[in-house]
Amino acid sequence: MRFLFMDFLNSEWRDGIRDDSLEDRLDKPGWWENVMADWGMTVNRPITETDRKELKALRSRLRVWVEKLAEGKQLNEEDLHQINTYLRQVPVYRVLDSKNGGYGWKLLPDQSDWRWVASEIVASLAELLVRHDAGRIRICENRQCLWVFYDESRNRSRRWCDHRTCGNRMNVRKHRQRKRHSKGGQPENE
Ligand SMILES: [Zn+2]
Repeated sequence: MRFLFMDFLNSEWRDGIRDDSLEDRLDKPGWWENVMADWGMTVNRPITETDRKELKALRSRLRVWVEKLAEGKQLNEEDLHQINTYLRQVPVYRVLDSKNGGYGWKLLPDQSDWRWVASEIVASLAELLVRHDAGRIRICENRQCLWVFYDESRNRSRRWCDHRTCGNRMNVRKHRQRKRHSKGGQPENE
């Protein structure tokens, strides 16, 4: 299951190996526009430096909320107040839409600007909290990765963004650490 706010948070990309690999993809021309297009969103004007700054401020706040939720904590009153401030930023109106022979609601913004994008990002988190399971929000346990994802495993036990990459790396690291310890670095008669 994908959520817009997760794609947005994962714009802070790390290679999963080095401590200093952080790459901010919001700074890459066109990167975020491509992600938005993928979500069927278009904005009525190019991103400015101010928009970018505001998006980054939102990303820092969002990370705090997501870290709390991933640790199984609840959002507090202040968090909800900030979330609702973003949600109120741009009024949306609803229209009746036909698709696949049926009907559905479509929410359209008053202004398709960057504030609308910010409110949609926050709305996707709110949507997860209301309709899905906050207890399934995860941050990859590899500290050199920190990818945000939704754990859809049956027993809610997924710890890594991908078991073939980060999962493997973490197992190799653990194995090496054990080996190092047993080679005499640490006394074993605890
Ligand atoms: Zn990972």
